[in-house]
Amino acid sequence: MKMIPVAGPSITEHEIEYVTRAAREGWYEGAGEFHARFEAAFAAYVGRRHAIALPSCTAALHLALAARGIGPGDEVIVPELTWIASSAPIRYVGATPVFADVEPETWCLAPASVEACLSERTRAIIAVDLYGNMPDLDALERLVAGRGIAIIEDAAQAIGSRLRGRLAGSFGLASAFSFHGSKTMTTGEGGMLVTDDDALHERVRVLRDHGRPVGDRRFINTEVAYKYKMSAMQAALGLAQLERIDELVAMKNAIFAGYAQRLGEVEGLTLNRPGPAVRSSHWMVNAVLDPRLGLRSEGVMEALAQRGIDSRPMFQPLSGLPAYAAEPTAIAARRRNLVARGLSPFGVNLPSALVLDPAQVEHVCRSLLDIIEHAVA
Ligand SMILES: *Cc1c(COP(=O)(O)O)cnc(C)c1O
Repeated sequence: MKMIPVAGPSITEHEIEYVTRAAREGWYEGAGEFHARFEAAFAAYVGRRHAIALPSCTAALHLALAARGIGPGDEVIVPELTWIASSAPIRYVGATPVFADVEPETWCLAPASVEACLSERTRAIIAVDLYGNMPDLDALERLVAGRGIAIIEDAAQAIGSRLRGRLAGSFGLASAFSFHGSKTMTTGEGGMLVTDDDALHERVRVLRDHGRPVGDRRFINTEVAYKYKMSAMQAALGLAQLERIDELVAMKNAIFAGYAQRLGEVEGLTLNRPGPAVRSSHWMVNAVLDPRLGLRSEGVMEALAQRGIDSRPMFQPLSGLPAYAAEPTAIAARRRNLVARGLSPFGVNLPSALVLDPAQVEHVCRSLLDIIEHAVA
């Protein structure tokens, strides 16, 4: 049986034409052309001075932390509820992740919890725009103002979202995007770091190219660093997708609207509706079921799979993952972050792939309602 997919891109002849051109022309005098165009167009889109194309969002977060000089002994605050890519780079640089709780309404980083997690070692906050929704980044910026703490926005899931009219990717010292195949726009694998900070931009360019000073032609490396680059074919794919970004975001919004119409008023089911200040680009539709229904995500996913529907569990609280079993800060987090721990077992990602048609969304809604009805009966 062919399953209704959870996530996946929309690829048209436009993308195929650009990638083909890059494969043909992205060498010799054409090398670097698609990167330059992709980076310039991306910076212009989010309204930042600089954009650097990278092999992943994980690499973008890694470089942002490294370029900021964050290392052993430093603490970086990250939300409990996100993909591990948001937090893993904290350990790459030798710093300690501190897991803060999320808001019950937005499921995004709670400023009050961040405040409680601040210490004299805090050097950065990784604020995640979860499922296309956004935390109150204005409140977070006020909270750290004058304290030398950097906000790094993980906008991997939120291209096209806006908080109080401001686009995701324009907050804090720097923002990171992902172009993984599951995200709203894709380059296959890929990411982007954007910033207005000239010094950070310069430092990231050295760190991502094996420690070669910018413009170096003598291959003299001044430090041991990283190799984080994107190919011309990926940049071409990204440029073509970016040229369709309004269309892609509109498709995501239409998918969410389809779910909201059928599931928006259902007792015991909460969709990830954005707060009043946010216009979400709805990367992924998420349903959280009232614990009183007795339906946990594993059971719902299994029942959906029997109806030909692929789904995913909501993110697990990071501090409870085996990966962080030995992380000293995870013990306090497991006690503290009750909102994230309360939501996660009852949340299911519903199919949100860009290729879905309204009949498929309808089938998912009907199936989920059927599963809930059986639980109530
Ligand atoms: C997908 C994702 C990432 C990682 O992106 P990659 O490009 O796969 O490294 C980081 N943070 C969040 C919130 C994500 O959803």
